[in-house]
Amino acid sequence: MVLERTSIPLYWRDRGIKYRLLGGECKSCNRRFFPYRKVCPHCGSTDVNKVNLPRRGRVVSFTVVHNAPRGFEYYTPYVIALIELKDGTRLLSQLTDVEPDEVREGMEVEMVIRIHRTCGESWLIAYGYKFRPVLKK
Ligand SMILES: [Zn+2]
Repeated sequence: MVLERTSIPLYWRDRGIKYRLLGGECKSCNRRFFPYRKVCPHCGSTDVNKVNLPRRGRVVSFTVVHNAPRGFEYYTPYVIALIELKDGTRLLSQLTDVEPDEVREGMEVEMVIRIHRTCGESWLIAYGYKFRPVLKK
């Protein structure tokens, strides 16, 4: 099967596969964090479980990037936001499907899978999570 450049996410979406946001949950201090790691960043405990985090949250704060690192120049200007998920877990993410001047603190956002970048001459495509304004309530 030959896949078009942008059809990989659509292919998996059509198969009904949900993308997960995999975080950690500490059994010692009961806090959650992202991304998952074997040691709790809050208390140092190694008693940590993997947990699927909520895919929705709100923008706590944000900044607009005008001078991007190599590989991300295409997206400038773009927004990096501190997002608080529905369960209180905070993470940093690029926002997509929104203009920088439309972003507001408190804006509801949801996770989506998007192209992060293409790698050099190989055109290897790196996919990852981004957040966009919530389309449906
Ligand atoms: Zn902990």
